[in-house]
Amino acid sequence: MRASVQAPSEFDRSVAIGKASAPSRGAMGNLGQRFLWPALRTVVPFQLWPRLSRVSLVVPYYHMVSDAEVPHVRHLYRFRTVREFEADLDFFLRHFTPVELEDVVAALGGERGLPPRPFHLTFDDGFREMHDVVAPLLQKKGIPATFFLNSAFIDQGGMAHHNKISLLLDRISQPISNRILHDIEKLLPPSINSKGCLQSRLLAIRYADRETIDQMAAIAEVDINQYIKLNRPYLSSEEVFNLQRFGFTIGAHSIDHPLYADLSVEEQVRQTRVSMDFILRKFGVRIRAFAFPHSDAGVIHEFFEPVFATGVADVCFGTRGLVRHFHPRNVERFSMEKTTDAAKSIIARQYAKALYSQALRKNAGA
Ligand SMILES: [Zn+2]
Repeated sequence: MRASVQAPSEFDRSVAIGKASAPSRGAMGNLGQRFLWPALRTVVPFQLWPRLSRVSLVVPYYHMVSDAEVPHVRHLYRFRTVREFEADLDFFLRHFTPVELEDVVAALGGERGLPPRPFHLTFDDGFREMHDVVAPLLQKKGIPATFFLNSAFIDQGGMAHHNKISLLLDRISQPISNRILHDIEKLLPPSINSKGCLQSRLLAIRYADRETIDQMAAIAEVDINQYIKLNRPYLSSEEVFNLQRFGFTIGAHSIDHPLYADLSVEEQVRQTRVSMDFILRKFGVRIRAFAFPHSDAGVIHEFFEPVFATGVADVCFGTRGLVRHFHPRNVERFSMEKTTDAAKSIIARQYAKALYSQALRKNAGA
């Protein structure tokens, strides 16, 4: 069994930002969110959910599928084993119709409709397992998918700051001297709450303080460059070309994976434009698809307006679950990770969430 540190990760932090920006629901609304709507998913037959929730497109996302420990990921979130992933795929095929990225974009543009119960699979961060583990399984079952890549990390050009934190957590989960732990703790940015265990405080280090993580790794004698060289965490260009040859689509996921809510709008647009230009130049993609790193929570209209008006992207993908986004070309997705729950349970929860958010909107007269 894999073990992982149970601490709030940056992924959770970005979700918290989304919650903070949502309108107040009041006591009854909170009760509904906590108890009534989750309970609904257990009593409503799964087949009824698509019609009941009026959700027309289902876009799940994953980062990793592996039976191995994967030290640069294992302390951030729980990911699917191969067996669990295959069970997910079989469930999708039983209840939904796979569609290509092109179909999604054509439907958003009103050019053509989608088949009943369409789904499109997506995978973020461009890890090597996408080529070695995920693609063969998808090919076997005939399921299209889009892989979103960080332009800085293709061909082992570096590592995202949160994945470095996972490596550091891996090191401190092993026997380590108190002096090293103390030296690491001294480097924690002042913005981080002094309470809580060291693990959760390390996970709270933001993108802006990412150089601190390199300093901590040096203290703990975690050689990140050597790890990258030996383990090849990310896809190589050749592997990306292979994915394209197999019929999969490729999209951009920013340059180096910042949380967009922490950036200025100008920097958000730059990260998107530069990574998309790279993907276009290097891999010649036809559709300009972009997936927000961590979350699209807090990203405002002033980002979407220039990105779509100047053709930086044809479509964006968020991570806030089966809810409608205010921009029609930003498609919200839901995570298939951080849980051992079966696909049926994860998706039913998302349908209940969709129904709940519609009820809230109706109540608010929106
Ligand atoms: Zn990501």
